[in-house]
Amino acid sequence: IVLAAGQGKRMHSKVQKQFLEIQGYPVLYYSLRCFQESPLIQDIILVTGEESISYCKEEIVQKYGFTKVSAVIPGGKERYDSVWMGLKAVKDDLPKEATEGIVFIHDGARPMVSEDILERCFQDAQKYNACVAAVPVKDTIKIADENGFAETTPRRDRVWQVQTPQTFSFGLIYDAYAQLAEQKDTLAGKGIKITDDAMVVETFTDHQVKLTEGSYRNLKVTTPEDLPLAEKYLHS
Ligand code: C5P
Repeated sequence: IVLAAGQGKRMHSKVQKQFLEIQGYPVLYYSLRCFQESPLIQDIILVTGEESISYCKEEIVQKYGFTKVSAVIPGGKERYDSVWMGLKAVKDDLPKEATEGIVFIHDGARPMVSEDILERCFQDAQKYNACVAAVPVKDTIKIADENGFAETTPRRDRVWQVQTPQTFSFGLIYDAYAQLAEQKDTLAGKGIKITDDAMVVETFTDHQVKLTEGSYRNLKVTTPEDLPLAEKYLHS
């Protein structure tokens, strides 16, 4: 499931971050190419905004021959809504074997995903049923109080920066998201904001999520200063 919906307000650009061009190709092109070329991947569900469906179909999927994309579907308001739409599309539209396999959930705004990362995630997903690409943080991290003062400092050697792909046995992640879909108003009421897929597994199951070696290069194009770096990496 490749995610390319959402507004991307932090980019302050009219064009959503996943569609900005780098080295002559939209950001989204690069991750789709990686999944298209990977022997691990059978089908790709691309999730995007209602208004971008025909652009994605014509200007990306058809133009670059991404034949593994079996559906381009509309996403939802939050990232987790888009993921849930993707998971339902896997269940409803793909052959039954897909629901017995492994699903990679990937941010289309991360163009630097590589076959190496997919291999490592696939292996850990087979072994542990749930894993996320991640790297140890380089900076010290502070937990702030509500007034912006440092409250606590977690041990740096235990703090990881989480990326995508987030990779799971399909049944596990589908069931966890089905519970989220039922309980999201209760969570929102408690001020809990779901920002990745691992958190859904952590919240609704007793499965542990393995942190799998990602890459410092696997950045998410989020704010304008990410662009020159992504450009440099993609060029090399
Ligand atoms: O906004 P954020 O940086 O969390 O977005 C991560 C990824 O999730 C992006 O690739 C974006 O296109 C996708 N997304 C989505 N649906 C949303 C919000 C974000 O597919 N409602």
